[in-house]
Amino acid sequence: MDIRLHNTLTREKQVFLPQNPQRVTMYVCGPTVYSYAHIGNARPPVAFDLLFRLLRLKYGAEHVVYAANITDVDDKIIAAAAEAGKPIAEITAHFERIYREDIGALGVIEPTLRPHATEHIDGMIAIISELVAKGHAYPGKDGVLFDVPSMADYGKLSGRNRDEMVAGARVEVDAGKKDPADFALWKAAKPGEPKEARWDSPWGEGRPGWHIECSAMVKAVLGETIDIHGGGLDLIFPHHENEIAQSECAHGKPMARYWLHNGFLSMDSEKMSKSLGNVKLIHELLKHYDGETMRFALMSAHYRQPLDWTESLLNQSKATLDRLYNAMRRIKDVHAANTGAPDGVLNALCDDLNTPLALAELSALATEANKAEPQDWPRFKGLLLAAGSLLGLLQRDPEDWARGDASDADRIDALVAGRVAARKAKDFAEADRIRRDLAAEGIEIMDGPDGSTWRRV
Ligand SMILES: [Zn+2]
Repeated sequence: MDIRLHNTLTREKQVFLPQNPQRVTMYVCGPTVYSYAHIGNARPPVAFDLLFRLLRLKYGAEHVVYAANITDVDDKIIAAAAEAGKPIAEITAHFERIYREDIGALGVIEPTLRPHATEHIDGMIAIISELVAKGHAYPGKDGVLFDVPSMADYGKLSGRNRDEMVAGARVEVDAGKKDPADFALWKAAKPGEPKEARWDSPWGEGRPGWHIECSAMVKAVLGETIDIHGGGLDLIFPHHENEIAQSECAHGKPMARYWLHNGFLSMDSEKMSKSLGNVKLIHELLKHYDGETMRFALMSAHYRQPLDWTESLLNQSKATLDRLYNAMRRIKDVHAANTGAPDGVLNALCDDLNTPLALAELSALATEANKAEPQDWPRFKGLLLAAGSLLGLLQRDPEDWARGDASDADRIDALVAGRVAARKAKDFAEADRIRRDLAAEGIEIMDGPDGSTWRRV
């Protein structure tokens, strides 16, 4: 089945054809690690995780190479380390670990490769040298600049005209620029900047600009022309436009064949409760919501569309997952048939990752499973599990899901055990009190021959 993807470069949906089906390459710009990540930052890793899963299904897991970088040198990192009075490497290692844990809780599988900018400084210097030699870059007052007018088709990704580009570039005032649209490839070290943020180069001590980091990492870990390059909509200009300028002028070939961009996430504090209105960090939200619920909510809108992040979206996502897991629970003791992913879900994802349709297909499948005769249960279980695996959902023990998050589960387990003990001691008033209290929280106790279990209703 063909995968069709919307390509920002051609502004149309195209059938995806990799250069080499034995080695499909994808690069997505990763975070700058100096603080906790905002929920908006979770959209690209979740969207491209879904594409990674789909590509692995189509081409085989060993034939897809996905690189997502970590930017571990930057003005904001230097400032954060100075403020904390800690070495830069300590700050970046700390926040990288938290970032990976946070997106891991959202069901994001680790990319094949995680290049770090500071491991590729030599590659950046090599590309800058190449650009200088070819007349696409020049040393300025504060480092080396890319000569934008030297590239005839600069601006082809964003489609911005010259005035719009200059207006965008004006914030970065630099007297050494030949043209207002020129941008920094290498930044000369400023007095007082820490030693760990400066490297030797043919243009003196300094550090790379942000855009050149990705050009160098893409080349080093994936090659000069890759299949898919992704990121948030906000990166189209100037970041991706400048990556294209650097890589294509240095190597003389296209940088990436398909450019994919996810839409923004908007947060309306008024639509959130007081307690959640200010919670914007993934790390904090995970204390209130299960990671799988957050993943479901992130996939509820098509990745290119804006997503309105509200409390009702989260609650609705939780309710839908409860229903899906209940369907799994009915058939939990059945051996799943080896069915592969259902066509409805697969077709939806192959059509430019249409997650709203894929999730609707998954819900419809659960409804069918609930009505199915026992002889069809193995097939439905196989379909639900395969669809869930493709979407990054439904892989947990349905009993665990029904029991809610682990921290709360311990408390409820203790109460249920207290009720069993009260009944044994014939203290039925106490046993009833515990049952009533738990019922008020929406928890139902089920007494069976093997003891008492509980679930959320
Ligand atoms: Zn990048």
